[in-house]
Amino acid sequence: MSVSDKYLVVGQGLAGSVLIHQFQVQGIAFDIIDNHHEKSGSMAAGGIMHPMSFRRLSLAWRAIELIEEAISFYESIQTKLEDPVFQTSTFYRPLISIEEQNNWMARMNESPFDEILGVEDLNIEGVNAPFGMGTINYSGRLEVQDFLHFTKKHFKDQLISDQFKHDDLLKEGDCWRYKEKLYKGVIFCEGYQFIYNPYFNYLPSNLTKGEIIEINTPALEQKMISRGCFIVPQKGKDNYLVGSTYRWNAVSEETTIDAREELKEKVEKVVNTPFKIYNQLSGIRPTISDRKPLIGEHPKHSGLYIFNGMGSKTVMMAPKLSDQFIGFLQGNEEIFPEANISRHTKKHFHKFEAYEADKMSKL
Ligand SMILES: Cc1cc2nc3c(=O)[nH]c(=O)nc-3n(C[C@H](O)[C@H](O)[C@H](O)COP(=O)(O)OP(=O)(O)OC[C@H]3O[C@@H](n4cnc5c(N)ncnc54)[C@H](O)[C@@H]3O)c2cc1C
Repeated sequence: MSVSDKYLVVGQGLAGSVLIHQFQVQGIAFDIIDNHHEKSGSMAAGGIMHPMSFRRLSLAWRAIELIEEAISFYESIQTKLEDPVFQTSTFYRPLISIEEQNNWMARMNESPFDEILGVEDLNIEGVNAPFGMGTINYSGRLEVQDFLHFTKKHFKDQLISDQFKHDDLLKEGDCWRYKEKLYKGVIFCEGYQFIYNPYFNYLPSNLTKGEIIEINTPALEQKMISRGCFIVPQKGKDNYLVGSTYRWNAVSEETTIDAREELKEKVEKVVNTPFKIYNQLSGIRPTISDRKPLIGEHPKHSGLYIFNGMGSKTVMMAPKLSDQFIGFLQGNEEIFPEANISRHTKKHFHKFEAYEADKMSKL
């Protein structure tokens, strides 16, 4: 009988990177394969995390438990590095009407918002805030590209730089063979490219293209600001990242003039000093309509897993969800039901069965 203790992880974006750091901590053997696609979601990510959903001034899904684990995970990674890649920091939200100020202050009196929200009579140079500055604690920023670069170097002995070809994956006893190696399981962290994965593309995708711009301005005092867009300090004097746009069901990977204009207008509403745009990036977020993660084991082929779909909250979600996923692999933890792909089996799995039946009929 074929035996292996090793997992193969497909994709070293943010999700795959966080997962393999957790594997290392827990002493689990793995290889990781990545094709270094330049327009992956992670390559354009702003790297911010905060617990709020501003539209209703409510908490994002499981925000507190996710953020607490994220902070401790990124702080522990930091100890392995010379240059910091993560910092916790207050987010500032300029309040622009008396009504907004009233709503904000009412929320501040409710639990758990009394721990999260505040208000400061603070003037940030160059920022319009006629009704004060709302503050959001439990927030932070990951320098995503630096984190990915460090991870790539740190795990260079396990990293295979290549395109993973799904057709080369074969079941052998209890294991999966990929080329010359046997694996206990294969975990797909392919980001939006899961739409090309024949085992998991039955899951309902609704991808979101996003773009960011990089600006230079002597104002803003290195503060993280959120108001219609996020504006966060970058490495390099007076440089800030501004994001993001959302275009549903878009798969074009190019940067566009309309996204640049949209972001420029948003900055102009918040910032009253001149700024210069010096760069623009785009990427595609792995998202689906219910905006919840896609995690779990293939309903038919045991040993094939997906760890994906964390969308615009990947920085915040990946640490807790990867830890829980490892517990699931070891048989002692359940995946949150809202994140488990089993929620889509009844409605969508027939697409995979039809695909497989068609494939078999052609053999
Ligand atoms: C403009 C923008 C701003 C964003 N800002 C934030 C933010 O501030 N905070 C936040 O939390 N999230 C943000 N996001 C979302 C976040 O960046 C993504 O959701 C997240 O990075 C997705 O990570 P992932 O690892 O799941 O996928 P990806 O980043 O797409 O990584 C998948 C990796 O797998 C590789 N791969 C795929 N298929 C194969 C294959 N067959 N063979 C080999 N390799 C393969 C790819 O090359 C890639 O390296 C933003 C996204 C965009 C576009």
